[in-house]
Amino acid sequence: MARIVMKFGGTSVADLDRIHNVARHVKREVDAGHQVAVVVSAMAGKTNELVGWVQGMPKVGGPNSPFYDAREYDAIVASGEQVTSGLLAIALQSIGVDARSWQGWQIPIRTDNAHGAARIQEIDGSEIINRMERGQAAVVAGFQGLAPDNRIATLGRGGSDTSAVAIAAALHADRCDIYTDVDGVYTTDPRIEPKARRLSKISFEEMLEMASLGAKVLQVRSVELAMVHKVRTFVRSSFEDPDAPGMSDFVNPPGTLICDEEEIVEQQVVTGIAYAKDEAQISLRRVADRPGVSAGIFGPLAEANINVDMIVQNISEDGSKTDITFTVPTGDVEKALSVLEKVRGSVGFDAVQSESGLVKVSVIGIGMRSHAGVAATAFRALAEKGINIRAITTSEIKISILIDGPYAELAVRTLHSVYGLDKH
Ligand code: ADP
Ligand code: ASP
Ligand code: MG
Repeated sequence: MARIVMKFGGTSVADLDRIHNVARHVKREVDAGHQVAVVVSAMAGKTNELVGWVQGMPKVGGPNSPFYDAREYDAIVASGEQVTSGLLAIALQSIGVDARSWQGWQIPIRTDNAHGAARIQEIDGSEIINRMERGQAAVVAGFQGLAPDNRIATLGRGGSDTSAVAIAAALHADRCDIYTDVDGVYTTDPRIEPKARRLSKISFEEMLEMASLGAKVLQVRSVELAMVHKVRTFVRSSFEDPDAPGMSDFVNPPGTLICDEEEIVEQQVVTGIAYAKDEAQISLRRVADRPGVSAGIFGPLAEANINVDMIVQNISEDGSKTDITFTVPTGDVEKALSVLEKVRGSVGFDAVQSESGLVKVSVIGIGMRSHAGVAATAFRALAEKGINIRAITTSEIKISILIDGPYAELAVRTLHSVYGLDKH
């Protein structure tokens, strides 16, 4: 007998039929004798709808947001998960599985005070464990917790993955299964490249890069938690027949295992390609070249909570001036430009230019640590397709390339193919 956390994403609970289907997946594990806690997302599209409603309200300003009171944002957008947790508990009861729903505050799942993007700090799993030991399944609303101000906090978009892994860690679960609308982690988004291949295993480090660089199959924070707490995490499909052979295989369930790199026998040089849309590039022209300039620019941007990503700096020929180019999410461009306008006098630069709608394509693989020429291969392949490169950043296990938006899919497919990732 084992303890399993099962998480179901938005498309898996999109309507009542699918919720009944999820209940059958849960029943299968309960019938196999396991203790089960389930984490659910809101129905597909629900959170977007709720966020849209908030954005349609007058901007009143709040503690963490220039637009609206972030505590009320959380009260509203957390409601989608409340609905699906109750519905799944009823669906389970209707097929003879003892089940009870739990909201974040009831457990409680304690978070910090960063409403809208809160981080889980502590989970008291005792009551859930008591009930699981008596044979009751817990159905937990994902994406939400209780902030120190005693109000609901949400964990940032895609946060139910993080709820699931954090609960698995708190309950000392043997496994955390993330059920979604694809049957595992692929070499790239299978919706963009039908030739993408499913990986049977991927290392924590690579999954962390894939998720940070745009693969939304797992929220970044969930991968960090799985890595730190050594949670055995699988990504698998809720769309398969819940009772098909092998579905309740405990050691090798169908799907992708996220694990330590030592567990991966056949390591490729490149494991996957990720992409992130809606990047914007901001360039400061003829910036004074003296100590403190970067601090004067990026300090205020950080204080305004603007996530600066790639940074490129070019010194002018005489060494007295420099051009600084960096990227931010498209949604932050206006805010960034107004911050830059304020520091223009103290920093000293001639002009600011910005361009939105760009895409960052990234090549990821721990094999890059020991192989030269991986970046050159990417540049050559993109050049052959006439794709212009705007900026490049690299780390030990990834190369990220900024390109124009319309070339996103071509670039993903080109890189996928040039590194031999295509399925044959
Ligand atoms: P859920 O609602 O279950 O949380 P998400 O939409 O958040 O599901 O994540 C699943 C989606 O992630 C898939 O439908 C797929 O399009 C996308 N995706 C992006 N990159 C990858 C990848 N490398 N492997 C698998 N899926 C990916
Ligand atoms: N429902 C939330 C969202 O859409 C959380 C999640 O699905 O993981 O972001
Ligand atoms: Mg998701």
